[in-house]
Amino acid sequence: MSDDQAYIIDIRGLAPPPNVPPGPGTTPARAGLLGRPWVGIRFDCCGIYSRIYRDADGAAYHGRCPRCLRQVRLRVGAGGTCCRFFVAE
Ligand SMILES: [Zn+2]
Repeated sequence: MSDDQAYIIDIRGLAPPPNVPPGPGTTPARAGLLGRPWVGIRFDCCGIYSRIYRDADGAAYHGRCPRCLRQVRLRVGAGGTCCRFFVAE
């Protein structure tokens, strides 16, 4: 038995998430297909909370209600917004 041998345990919950929410200062260039920025949105039509992801061109967030499939699209304004949560009414 050697004390040099260390157990390496991969705890997924402690690893940095691949999809880090974009903060102020996150540049679109950093956003690949996997780490796409998202915003939280509450669909008032069904009272469901979900995420919608940014389009590949980075001009808008686009998604749909997981229950009734109603589409929602948020345009990214100049300078963006600090808000990360929205309500689709
Ligand atoms: Zn809905």
